Amino acid sequence: MKPVLSIVVPAYNEEESLELFYEKVSAELEKTSLSWEILFVNDGSRDRTLEVGKELNRRDGRVKVIHFSRNFGNQVAISAGLDACAGEAVVVMDADLQQPAELLPEMIRLWKEEGFFIVHAVRKVYPEKVGLVKRLSSRCFYKGMNLLSDTHFIEGASEFRLMDRRVVTAMRGIHERSRFLRGLVQWVGFPSTTIPFEANERVAGTSSFSAMRLLALALDGVVSFSTRPLRWILYLGFFSAISCVPYALWAIIQFILHGQSRTPGWPSLIVAIIFLGGVQLISIGVIGEYVGRIYTEVKARPLYIVQERIGFDESRNES
Ligand code: UDP
Ligand code: MG
Repeated sequence: MKPVLSIVVPAYNEEESLELFYEKVSAELEKTSLSWEILFVNDGSRDRTLEVGKELNRRDGRVKVIHFSRNFGNQVAISAGLDACAGEAVVVMDADLQQPAELLPEMIRLWKEEGFFIVHAVRKVYPEKVGLVKRLSSRCFYKGMNLLSDTHFIEGASEFRLMDRRVVTAMRGIHERSRFLRGLVQWVGFPSTTIPFEANERVAGTSSFSAMRLLALALDGVVSFSTRPLRWILYLGFFSAISCVPYALWAIIQFILHGQSRTPGWPSLIVAIIFLGGVQLISIGVIGEYVGRIYTEVKARPLYIVQERIGFDESRNES
């Protein structure tokens, strides 16, 4: 029997959160009186996440675990969950309970009764501890993304969202390797709505997203949703090339009128070299980003490797 609801949970070093997550979320799910499954994707944790997951599965067969052979990253873990879940509606949630489970009944109502295919939970308020830098950079990121790309990004959107089976099927049809799910889910379309929420503190453990990882995610977002940076460097190149022309004309006129100057253009030369050198390095870097993406796409490696699946009826899911 296929469950109506699937909860997909990427988990990396979440041994302390998993049980609390199960308690809290299953309590909310029971209120809906729909059948459900919770699918933990253990993304190569180095702690006891797998054991805790197995224990939960022994206690309640509706808990399933996909265990990766190593860490593949949170976006890939979510994708694996979408591949394996069976529900008519799928909710993606973090294991750390930063996203309030109390929202689930309302999200399900919006899907079931109002007919929305996607319900985005949008973070309105950050927990106290989140620094100004993270808030500001998050804002700038969404503003920048909307400027750069044709796909609209919802500010404050997290991975916490409900998706109808048809959305999940569409998402599964996307085989890109560098994935930015928040963008992909916008790209597939379908009627959607948003619901605000207030993020909690993590129940346990620490965030695994350092500033560098967030930067990498942001870069994936920009590069996979827009080729505009490539066009911009073209413009930049044109601009810097053309801006030399008046200066060159002026220098020639000076030469005709006054002859060879006593200071033979040293400062302007250096400025030009540094400026153009910078523009060239940036341009090569931007092109490199795209070429690098082409390289990883062309290799067409599998997105993830599963080491073990716990709690699945393998005859159904091994497709
Ligand atoms: N996560 C994952 N793989 C990773 C890093 C994180 O599956 O390589 C999971 C993590 O267990 C959590 C979710 O992704 O359920 C969000 O991560 P985290 O809470 O560290 O990020 P933050 O909420 O601080 O942005
Ligand atoms: Mg978190």
